[in-house]
Amino acid sequence: MHANPFENALKQLARAARLYRNGIFGQGKVKKFSTELLARLAQPEREINVAIPVRMDDGSVRIFDGYRVQHSNLRGPYKGGIRFHHDTDINEVRALAFWMTLKTAVAGIPFGGGKGGVTVDPKKLSRGELERLSRAFVRALAPVLGARADIPAPDVGTTPEIMEWMADEYKEITGDKTRAAFTGKPVAYSGSEGRNAATGVGGFFVFDALRASLGITKGATLAVQGIGNVGAHAARVFEENGYKVVALSDSKSGVYNPNGLSVSAVLEYKKKHGTLHGFSSARIISNEKLLLLPVDVLIPAALENQITKQNAHAVKAKVILELANGPTTPEADDILFRRGTSVVPDILANAGGVAVSYFEWKQNLKKEHWSEKEVFRKLRVLLAREARAIFSRFRALKTDLRRAAFVVALERLEKALREK
Ligand code: NAD
Repeated sequence: MHANPFENALKQLARAARLYRNGIFGQGKVKKFSTELLARLAQPEREINVAIPVRMDDGSVRIFDGYRVQHSNLRGPYKGGIRFHHDTDINEVRALAFWMTLKTAVAGIPFGGGKGGVTVDPKKLSRGELERLSRAFVRALAPVLGARADIPAPDVGTTPEIMEWMADEYKEITGDKTRAAFTGKPVAYSGSEGRNAATGVGGFFVFDALRASLGITKGATLAVQGIGNVGAHAARVFEENGYKVVALSDSKSGVYNPNGLSVSAVLEYKKKHGTLHGFSSARIISNEKLLLLPVDVLIPAALENQITKQNAHAVKAKVILELANGPTTPEADDILFRRGTSVVPDILANAGGVAVSYFEWKQNLKKEHWSEKEVFRKLRVLLAREARAIFSRFRALKTDLRRAAFVVALERLEKALREK
């Protein structure tokens, strides 16, 4: 990874705090975030590095590097996914944990922020090796996890099945039968209806609440970078709602057809062939080119640092809906702002995942099971409310949406700090 995502996260924090300090909403009353809050957020509360021994299928033992960063529990138990990726390192996990603290505050749910990761390419492990790795990771971290302490969920490279192995291992170790210490579990194993699709669907709810204000008409065109869990569900729900999906990509390449793609046909092709190459009725394009297509809405749904000062000036989309975490660097934010591109920031746009994780946690603790309709109804209400609140701040502050979202989150964190 070239840029350090945690440095970018701290830059975002400083920029939002500076805005507030400059008294833009002061109107005579001097308001600012306390130095204590800013100092607390600039550093995770706890970081744990673990060496995870795993018996491989050939009988050898491999040691994997794993991390859990507990960034802040000012507003509730640490909450955040676990990433399995070959490039994952402590700086990435630290940044992701920081964004979770801000995201749970934006969503107004009673959680703090945390994140975990293992440096591994999960595609290179057998199913048995992956299960042993997942269980060993939980054994290493069990003392600091728990429904009232730290609640992991899926992220890049982790799936509902992996969450189930982890929840099961945690139950074996601690005897905790609530299953509320992990979210994103399969529905048949105390998971929530709608959790798997929640980040993508939630992204649509946020977009839909802001669409008219952002100057986008129904039926507009979009390109989605990444067709993993988040990108695939987002592409599907936008298509179902009458938008024209013209480009989709995986980690290697993308497909582009200005007249529109069939999302299900692309996903089926990828499932069958493991690649997008050879998909008929579309041009193969690179991930770099996908970001620069002439579309109304661009959805980065893969990894960090995709839109940078190198390519931001060439982005043609009117709106960037950040479903990935940290896809836009602070320098790119400035370029996009000057060019009039609206960036709906990750801490708002992809908060649907953690919001439904909160619903899952609640259902587990209350021994309830809500229907998918109920889950999505609650999700839409929550996200539309927070999206509109952030949008009105953005108008009042005459800034970008990211700073406005940070300001809303920081106010909630400041309140929690005072109440503590
Ligand atoms: P995933 O593992 O299901 O999918 C990742 C996708 O990104 C895959 O399609 C992969 O091919 C693609 N990809 C990987 N490297 C790429 C590259 N260099 N260029 C282009 N594409 C690349 O992961 P996911 O759960 O869909 O997560 C995607 C993003 O959404 C991440 O930034 C994650 O942190 C964020 N996110 C996920 C959730 C969740 O609930 N899963 C919630 C909030 C945010």
